[in-house]
Amino acid sequence: MMGWTFDYLIVGAGFSGLTLAERLTTQRGATCLLVDRRRHIGGNAHDRYDDHGVLIHPYGPHYFRTNSPRIREYLSQFTEWHPVGYRILAWTDGSYWPFPINLNTFEQLIGRPSTPAEMAAALDAWREPVANPSNSEAVIVSQVGRRLYEKFFEGYTLKQWRRHPRDLDASVCGRIPVRTNRDDRYLAEEFQALPAAGYTRMFERMLAACGDCAKLLLNTDYREVLPHVSFRRMIYSGPVDEYFDYAEGRLPYRSLRFEAESFAPEALVSREPVAGKKGFWQPAVQVNFPNDHEFTRIVELKHATGQLCENTTIVREYPEDFGPGREAYYPIPAPDSAAIYARYKARAEAEPRTSFVGRLATYRYYNMDQVVGMALAEFERLAAAPGWQPGQGL
Ligand code: FAD
Ligand code: UDP
Repeated sequence: MMGWTFDYLIVGAGFSGLTLAERLTTQRGATCLLVDRRRHIGGNAHDRYDDHGVLIHPYGPHYFRTNSPRIREYLSQFTEWHPVGYRILAWTDGSYWPFPINLNTFEQLIGRPSTPAEMAAALDAWREPVANPSNSEAVIVSQVGRRLYEKFFEGYTLKQWRRHPRDLDASVCGRIPVRTNRDDRYLAEEFQALPAAGYTRMFERMLAACGDCAKLLLNTDYREVLPHVSFRRMIYSGPVDEYFDYAEGRLPYRSLRFEAESFAPEALVSREPVAGKKGFWQPAVQVNFPNDHEFTRIVELKHATGQLCENTTIVREYPEDFGPGREAYYPIPAPDSAAIYARYKARAEAEPRTSFVGRLATYRYYNMDQVVGMALAEFERLAAAPGWQPGQGL
């Protein structure tokens, strides 16, 4: 590896790194070295077939959605789509509930048929008006009132973040829509689909598009290669505080433990009345547990992928504190972490030869499409910079 020269050293082969590698190589003829410390590409959006032949998302459910035609068109070069209206349930007080809160949830609550107008009037009566909800408790209580907040949000949020909703930005619980109609889809975006052959296949195609201009090193921390390569610029998609050796203190993150369990068809027979569908363990792709158990949710991805297989696999998700040996899955959107991040942001902006892109490098609770949008914008910024020719190296 001694003496390699690249235009770009790209740290992280997730959505951010792969989007930039693909753009820089195919549109600018640049050379890139992509380095990831994991043993696979795709970052947290990686998917794979488990030992039972079931396609799973090992790092938690990744439901692709976007309102941006540009981002959808960009990714459509590398994948066909399998449309999915992700529908999930919450389990509390001994029953399944349609979630997010919609007219069906309201009818179950009052025990009889209702109308959007009646539901809107009830929410009006229950909500506690807050002019500008500035935290996650206020954003929910101001929409649906305290009873529904306590039923669906308070316990889940405490479990997931080990923080009170009051101590989290409004954007956290504000991600979840509230509807007075019967639209029971979990997400609000216009386009909701999964890559038809999976995320990993899509990432493989992005990498293949780079041809000989990109080289990939897996299972390698970029710091191991730094002494051996020269490059013009680094694109960094790892945790921003780690890049700066924690010079401004540690940013808080939330981690998770995923526990998978698989079932052969005979084990599912007794569950069929619950699932309502043959070959499934639970009645929906995701069941949230706001008030029961130590895990927050159980995901049975087969509902969403539409995979035709007899076995099924469920994954239970246990929130964990971040620490040595654990992945930093979530930045924590809250005023105290924003204050620390502001200091890292100033350092990142002053870094002359590194672009910080993605969820951890910019410490933002971003979805996949937003990360792709950020990477495309960074490509445009780099491509517009004057005075550099592809292949020029350092
Ligand atoms: P990552 O995917 O984190 O990739 C960064 C890569 O950098 C990693 O592979 C890491 O190994 C590598 N790296 C870091 N440091 C180093 C180093 N020092 N040396 C070498 N490599 C390094 N988004 C959605 O749109 N819909 C969803 O339903 C959804 N669900 C999610 C569920 C969970 C549990 C989580 C954690 C995230 C979810 N997301 C979802 C968000 C989505 O995962 C991210 O938006 C997206 O994957 C971020 O891409 P990225 O490239 O910025 O980062
Ligand atoms: N949330 C909740 N109850 C739920 C689902 C979500 O209180 O049943 C809150 C919780 O704080 C969670 C946030 O809303 O972290 C965002 O939920 P989402 O499902 O979008 O989280 P992600 O898939 O990113 O983990």
